[in-house]
Amino acid sequence: MAVSIHPSVDQGLKPAAENFAGGTLHCHCATDKVEVAIQGQVAHNHICGCTKCWKPSGALFSMVGVVPRDNLEVTANAQKLEVVDPSAVIKRYACRDCGVHMYGRIDDTNHPFYGLDFIHVELSDDPGWAPPEFAAFVSSVIEGGADPTQMPAIRARLRELGLEPYDCLSPPLMDLIAAHSARQKGLLAA
Ligand SMILES: [Zn+2]
Ligand SMILES: [Zn+2]
Repeated sequence: MAVSIHPSVDQGLKPAAENFAGGTLHCHCATDKVEVAIQGQVAHNHICGCTKCWKPSGALFSMVGVVPRDNLEVTANAQKLEVVDPSAVIKRYACRDCGVHMYGRIDDTNHPFYGLDFIHVELSDDPGWAPPEFAAFVSSVIEGGADPTQMPAIRARLRELGLEPYDCLSPPLMDLIAAHSARQKGLLAA
């Protein structure tokens, strides 16, 4: 039996729609759902093994990507949103009733990912979102309770799905973070 990674990828990846215009995310409440409208396509969508990202119950990994913060608007029941951990770098806005994280936002203007909001496109029924491209923080699933002896099978399944497993972020994103630090130190032109 194949290792279950996340319900959105376990049956294989669906391709992104061309010229995808965006969609609406909604929380898991039966009524008075929090709604978040997203313009355009998600970027850097990936599977994440960290213990901070919201994941559906029973899933080993979360699925998370980013959009420019100007492309995100809370369109219903904003009063139900609460920040999960106000001391975290990423402020994760969750529905206080169902616990689903609707978006994560960085307030620190010096952060390499400032200006991007983190979203979970599985909260949208609209088809055509870009599928995940890689798996980040894979070893961290052990901190989430996974059996360390399962890691070879987990990494093998990720590769089979075309999701290269990394124990931090992907090389392009790690390069982006390092270049941001180098620019701040004056080692790279802005
Ligand atoms: Zn809710
Ligand atoms: Zn994560």
